[in-house]
Amino acid sequence: MQFKRKEKGKKLKTGLITIFCFLVIVPVVWMLFVKFEGEKPTIEIDRLPTMVSARFEILGKVYDYKSGLKKIRVSLSRSGKETVLLDKIYDSPGWFQKGSALSDPINIPVNVSKNEFPDGKATLTFVVRDYSWRDWWNGNKTTIEKEIVFDTQPPQLTVLSSQHNVSQGGSGLVIYRLSEPCPKNGIMVGDEFFPGHAGYFPDKNIYLAFFAVPIDHTADKDLYATAVDPAGNSARSGFYHYLKKKMFRKDVLKISDTFLNAKLPEFQNIQGVDTAQSPVEQFVFINSELREQNNQTIFANGTKTENQLYWNGPFGRLPNSAPKANFADYRDYEYNGTIISNAVHMGIDLASTQHVEVPAANNGKIVFADYVGIYGNLVCIDHGFGLMSIYGHLNQITVQPGDLVSKNDIIGFSGTSGMAGGDHLHFGLFIDHVFVNPIEWWDASWIANNITKKIESVKAMAGN
Ligand SMILES: [Zn+2]
Repeated sequence: MQFKRKEKGKKLKTGLITIFCFLVIVPVVWMLFVKFEGEKPTIEIDRLPTMVSARFEILGKVYDYKSGLKKIRVSLSRSGKETVLLDKIYDSPGWFQKGSALSDPINIPVNVSKNEFPDGKATLTFVVRDYSWRDWWNGNKTTIEKEIVFDTQPPQLTVLSSQHNVSQGGSGLVIYRLSEPCPKNGIMVGDEFFPGHAGYFPDKNIYLAFFAVPIDHTADKDLYATAVDPAGNSARSGFYHYLKKKMFRKDVLKISDTFLNAKLPEFQNIQGVDTAQSPVEQFVFINSELREQNNQTIFANGTKTENQLYWNGPFGRLPNSAPKANFADYRDYEYNGTIISNAVHMGIDLASTQHVEVPAANNGKIVFADYVGIYGNLVCIDHGFGLMSIYGHLNQITVQPGDLVSKNDIIGFSGTSGMAGGDHLHFGLFIDHVFVNPIEWWDASWIANNITKKIESVKAMAGN
């Protein structure tokens, strides 16, 4: 009997322990690990400039996947003064559940008055709490402080060069001084932006900006210098200029079956060329869409330019050559009496004898040497400060990217690669991303009047 009672007591004890476990230990463990979790919420700030003007934007996100977000407070303070930019409480569906928001994007447009935050340093403070029961049910807390500098003063942009006489399709140079470094500065010509570059003058605040005047630019379109400082304040300065209008030629090019049969096979492996289409349809695609893609490939080299004036004196042209097509010729392409396509020819075609040596037009650095669709085998030379020359339809290329070349160094041999009917050189010049008329750069007096004298007068003025 006594043994049985003992047995019964043991069972009872085990039962009680089990119940105790379920009623006390499991909830305690759950509370410790789940409700008292110690993982802090995360604040990720994606966009917050260190220099700001009165208006700026804070972008980022906050998250807490264990307990959920409880609240976020973002404030801006300076010498005891505080402005609350965001104060948000996230709800919770219940005492034993996670907060209803596990993550939330931060998107705070800030617009403070100049009186409240005059120029100088200020502190941005982000405080986020979660729904953990830690810290006496206040939750885990993450605090981030960021120092920002208010700058509401626009940069000063002073144009130093004078006499800006430009032509449609031509080039121009403006030299200006900035009062502070500006990540974006240059010349706007209508909607086109041409970046300015420091590095020519010992004074690093003086910039050279070569720009192109698109062939369709007219006097009623804006032409001005612009600069935006790190805080986003911008300055704009017009400059005296005279725009000369140009008449460009119109031409009709006849496309024959012989030409199509000879040329199209070269393009059959190029992406976008559909050999199931008729030869005329393939030609129209190559002459329009592919031409545009090829131009973009060429202009992508514009960003490789170096802040060094490699060139010196007038640019050279292919010796003993006759021009076969001019810059900005408007061409209609005619097939069996019908106009099937049109394009503007943004370079000069020069023909000499077959496979003639092609010299570099001026000193520079090779930035590109490869096959580019309609241009065939093409070399691109950087002459510095955004000015580049191209040589198309080559039969053979004899230079490589990175090579430094002097004026008249041989870069390849002429040919018919790309969309060329006969052996010729397609010579082009561009500034940043717009083709310009090479005739100006072949002309010693144009260079002297529009570039060299301008640089010399600023040198004299700046005393260096
Ligand atoms: Zn050409």
